[in-house]
Amino acid sequence: MAKIGFIGLGNMGAPMARNLIAAGHQVQVFDLNQHVVSQLAEEGARACKNANDVAEGANFVISMLPAAKHVQSLYLGDDGLINHLGDDTIVIDCSTIDAASAKSLGEALMDKGIAFVDAPVSGGVAGAAAGTLTFIVGGAQEHFEAVEPILQNMGKNIFHAGAIGAGQVAKICNNMLLSILMAGTSEALQMGINHGLDPKILSEIMLNSSGRNWTLELYNPCPGVIDSVPSSNQYQPGFMVDLMAKDLGLALEAAQNSGSATPLGALSKNLYTLLQNQGAGAKDFSAIFTLFEKK
Ligand code: NAD
Repeated sequence: MAKIGFIGLGNMGAPMARNLIAAGHQVQVFDLNQHVVSQLAEEGARACKNANDVAEGANFVISMLPAAKHVQSLYLGDDGLINHLGDDTIVIDCSTIDAASAKSLGEALMDKGIAFVDAPVSGGVAGAAAGTLTFIVGGAQEHFEAVEPILQNMGKNIFHAGAIGAGQVAKICNNMLLSILMAGTSEALQMGINHGLDPKILSEIMLNSSGRNWTLELYNPCPGVIDSVPSSNQYQPGFMVDLMAKDLGLALEAAQNSGSATPLGALSKNLYTLLQNQGAGAKDFSAIFTLFEKK
């Protein structure tokens, strides 16, 4: 069993840390939110006073933070974690951030002899709780092999996408597609509703036709079609609109860097910005359904 430091116990990080505890690891945790640290301590983790305390004797340090600025300041800020990690620690950053930031963090850590992989995830809060996340890892083969057994305690599918940063590129391709599917599913369902169709029946029809997709099947944006998803719970996240808008910003940056044409991604970014401007930033990303509502 390993000693694992875990930083960032939000919607995703807390259930991921719980699965590491359940797998029998020694888990030491920190978050700016003291309440969730205490909760995890009651469930068997060691509560740390600050982020640097998490590094103490850790074989692995995992971070699950909102965006690149949080990750950079955690590791590379004044008295950052980089100064407190042992050179036998492997750092696993699971946050979704841009590939360039992942690469520069990796280089800074490697310069000090500390191994690093980027390992963003897919599967949402439900996948985090069930331990069925998909991990998309960027890093050297030997480091991938070292982190794989740990990631298996939190996920079902563990992919090695390539060198450091490749995990982030693959993740952002996925999320751009996800946002397009969510917007398209929403407008199709709303058009059916506007014609008097029952969204449950319409969903069933499309699920058995060529419009079938993940959002329609497992994360339906129309309230009442699937009971257990955010749309049936006032769009409580889940995966926040603000985070999807951030990911789409990363996708457009990645498109520009590589000369890729992503017109649907750009449209989707604008739709999510519109939703943010309507005050829905903290709602689940499936709330894009409400943008198409005929009021
Ligand atoms: P969240 O906002 O719920 O959690 C982030 C946590 O980080 C918070 O508890 C916050 O207090 C903590 N934090 C921020 N700065 C910190 C610091 N310096 N030190 C310690 N703690 C700090 O976000 P989330 O939904 O858990 O998402 C985390 C990451 O995972 C994001 O990059 C997101 O894009 C990605 N992601 C989320 C989902 C999802 O469905 N929510 C799915 C896949 C990937």
